[in-house]
Amino acid sequence: MRKKIVAGNWKMHKDLAETEAFLGRLKEQVMPEEVSIIVAPPFTNLQHAFQSLRDHPVRVAAQNMHQSDKGAFTGEVSAAMLKSVGVETVILGHSERRAHFNETDDLLAEKVNTALGNDMTVIFCVGEELKDRKAGDQFEVVQNQLEKGLFHLSEDDWAHVVIAYEPVWAIGTGETASPEQAQQMHQFIRQAVTDHYSETVAEAVSILYGGSVKPANAKEIFGQPDVDGGLIGGAALEVESFMEIAKAFIE
Ligand code: PEP
Repeated sequence: MRKKIVAGNWKMHKDLAETEAFLGRLKEQVMPEEVSIIVAPPFTNLQHAFQSLRDHPVRVAAQNMHQSDKGAFTGEVSAAMLKSVGVETVILGHSERRAHFNETDDLLAEKVNTALGNDMTVIFCVGEELKDRKAGDQFEVVQNQLEKGLFHLSEDDWAHVVIAYEPVWAIGTGETASPEQAQQMHQFIRQAVTDHYSETVAEAVSILYGGSVKPANAKEIFGQPDVDGGLIGGAALEVESFMEIAKAFIE
């Protein structure tokens, strides 16, 4: 069975004290055993988060990393640096990084290679903009992102890849893709992986939905056959709403 995953992308939210408070409350909660729960705090809080969650099932991810191993890249963080503080998962290709930091498909393919080369797991984000959906181009856009960002990988690499479908028009807007729209795209993605690799690879890869997931809509979205969980922004910043979403699979 595919792994069910709920990951919280904190973006540029929560300083150290807020992170401590959040994780303290998170650790008081009963964790659903069948769901892998991940938090992705800002770089400055990763070490604290890893240490705080050392004996806990919740895992820690980074929101980004540089494609090079080391060098004169002021302000950047490498895969080895992340691993040195215990982080083994990284979100790559988030639409905010594509839009505000000019991260292209080619650059993202390099980052994916570096992450996998360092034995990390990648949560790779794809998703169309509103103009693409209005033009009916959403499948073409996502296919292109998959081809350029991931389809150079070997079959074995896919054991360390999670895909997050995040329609850009649904991120932080309160607008959610309908469960049917989410299912349609997730099915499309799984078929694209089948066509390029095999059914075995496609059936094993977890595909998360992201875009204004809230406790009120999580159950319906996660109930779709090709939706294996969520990448959560705003609603991941409060323990209660994050946990309600994580438990939406089972309750
Ligand atoms: C995200 O940033 O990955 C995201 C899905 O944000 P939100 O849940 O706030 O739409």
